Amino acid sequence: MDKELFDFLYTDLQFIHGVGPVLASKFNDFLGNRRVLDFLLHIPSYVRPREILDSVVGAQNGDTITISLMVKSHKKGGAFRGRRRPTQILCNDRFGAPVVIQFFNVKFLDYWTEKLPIGQWRIVSGKLDVTNRGATINHPEFIELPENAEKIPTHQAIYPSGMGLTQKTFANVRDQIFNILHDKIAKNSFSENMLEFMDALEHVHYPQTNDDLAPNGTYISKLAYCELLAHQSAIAINRRNRQEKKNIRPVRAKKYDLMDKFYSILPFQLTNAQQRTIDDIFNDFQKPTPMMRLVQGDVGSGKTMVAMAAAVKMAEMGAQSVLLAPTDTLAQQHFAKLSVMCEKLGIYCDVLTGRDKGVARREKLTSLKSGRTKFAIGTHALFSEDVEYKDLGLVIIDEQHRFGVAQRTAMRAKGNNPDMLALSATPIPRTLSMTVYGDMDVSIINEKPAGRIPIKTTKLPIARANTLIERIVPQVKSGAKIFWVCPLVEQSEISDMTAAQERFDELKKYFPGTGLCHGQMDKKERDKVMSEFADPNSKMRVLVSTTVIEVGIDVPSATIMVIENAERFGLAALHQLRGRVGRGNLQSFCVLVYGNNISPDGIKRLDVLCETEDGFVIAEQDLMMRGVGELLGTKQSGWIQYHFVDYREHRDLFKLAQSAAMNNNSENESVWSAKLRKIFDCSTTVGA
Ligand code: ADP
Ligand code: MG
Repeated sequence: MDKELFDFLYTDLQFIHGVGPVLASKFNDFLGNRRVLDFLLHIPSYVRPREILDSVVGAQNGDTITISLMVKSHKKGGAFRGRRRPTQILCNDRFGAPVVIQFFNVKFLDYWTEKLPIGQWRIVSGKLDVTNRGATINHPEFIELPENAEKIPTHQAIYPSGMGLTQKTFANVRDQIFNILHDKIAKNSFSENMLEFMDALEHVHYPQTNDDLAPNGTYISKLAYCELLAHQSAIAINRRNRQEKKNIRPVRAKKYDLMDKFYSILPFQLTNAQQRTIDDIFNDFQKPTPMMRLVQGDVGSGKTMVAMAAAVKMAEMGAQSVLLAPTDTLAQQHFAKLSVMCEKLGIYCDVLTGRDKGVARREKLTSLKSGRTKFAIGTHALFSEDVEYKDLGLVIIDEQHRFGVAQRTAMRAKGNNPDMLALSATPIPRTLSMTVYGDMDVSIINEKPAGRIPIKTTKLPIARANTLIERIVPQVKSGAKIFWVCPLVEQSEISDMTAAQERFDELKKYFPGTGLCHGQMDKKERDKVMSEFADPNSKMRVLVSTTVIEVGIDVPSATIMVIENAERFGLAALHQLRGRVGRGNLQSFCVLVYGNNISPDGIKRLDVLCETEDGFVIAEQDLMMRGVGELLGTKQSGWIQYHFVDYREHRDLFKLAQSAAMNNNSENESVWSAKLRKIFDCSTTVGA
């Protein structure tokens, strides 16, 4: 039965032989989860051939080679005139060409010299460095006796890695998992579909050539189709469930007169796009099915006021609304702005976050339960178990991609089929919006409030970071606020914290009030720094942070955004970050600082950002250049993270999966797609 298989797929990696809690938590950090399944869905990015070469001649600098070498002599390393010198093992290939093997850690000298005894042949595999001094291999990955050559894989699958996870670890864990899988497959009768799926998965984890990993190859196509079917069937089910929910919510009529007043106290004229979106929403309020609408609008397009209008309309009908924000800071910020308007309108507005405790919290809950509070702004605290509403008519979710389906469902359960309004700053290319948000209606705010000054975006090599600091000094003196973002460090053991910490230490010399904010700080501390930076009266002028910097945080006086190693971010994430400036009526700047290793494509990507501020254009370009969602900065991208699907290569599969999901009538098909939804974590609203 497939159930036994699922039990295994859902097993915590720490129970796999040779893993244990420490490694499992590294996998958790890297993969975002720690089940066997999560490991299996993370596949190698390419194949490294390791045929044994006889000669080093012809191999290129940087190649990973496997070669037969005769050990000629040992040259002991150590401290020498105050400099550490590596231990060197001098060897020859079969044609007598010299190759030096180097070890920088002299502590292990004996170990290495024993592994590479003089006068003997060894098979050595590692990365080749060619300089004018000759060919060198530093710290080879494999050293084997010629008779054990088969211990070196001829085709090594290379996994995307990070968090100190090595290729050897990936290979070991993979072998363990597939051993168990073979065992289970031999002892059980799994469905045909499942066997085919597992077979494709095995092929991509043990690729023989790069063709096995090609998006249009047999295996990836198969897996991509399965993944799309999982998503599309979830969307189809959600849509069906929603359409069936007719006349299930309370009928509401206007009780008070609030909208006219709302328009009269608006501090500005709504843009046409805002007005159009508000009309869409009010239209939905009249329909027999609960609203499920997504508002897509670039950062700064004014989504908050649209949400406010919807809440006012709800209050006009006597029902309650909540506005759910992903963080405390954002919730407080929304409350600070909107409660002023609410007061003028006579709408009782409140804020509820994790900070509220004791008596104060209880009073707030009483007010929600009695229906006195008409508009509640807050975080997940709004759907804590003990929170009750009298008549929750509207749930607004800000930065909707930051909330999981479970959280949205929990919030919805607080009312009697309330209307749902999701706000997203992530523009989805039009070509994809059906497939990504297939079960929602979409309104697009494609217009910015008048009078915005375009942000000046430039790119700059890291070598010139100092000139940048010099240019910033006078700006700060005259009152500018600066976001300085350091990226997550991938493929390295240095944590993101270190990079930010180092930059912080340096900037503090120039700007004593500099603040620091990173993922290793606890949330309270982070919130504190963030609010201090947002405070117009504070002395904190520069905020160094990793990408934990809040999506949606509004600091109108921030006019400069510096993003270090910008090439490591996806375009959508960069666009989001840039949107933190240019919010007031001052000229703003964004500087994309790039590292030495940037590729020509990387430069092209940054150029897109320098040339346009249109989120839709940027999203489309990102899609065309990379074909996948974000890698880094995932949280801010808001795109579905596919494991196997490549947006560019699998357009046809999108359509196939979509029609299969909609017409999935046979028992077999629906059982299989339900399993796929389990594999790919695609929730449906069944039972919600
Ligand atoms: P976002 O869509 O990113 O959530 P906000 O709702 O935070 O954007 O709006 C950004 C800023 O623009 C806010 O300071 C808001 O008051 C202002 N704003 C919104 N709509 C308009 C408008 N029609 N005219 C002028 N300013 C506006
Ligand atoms: Mg916003």
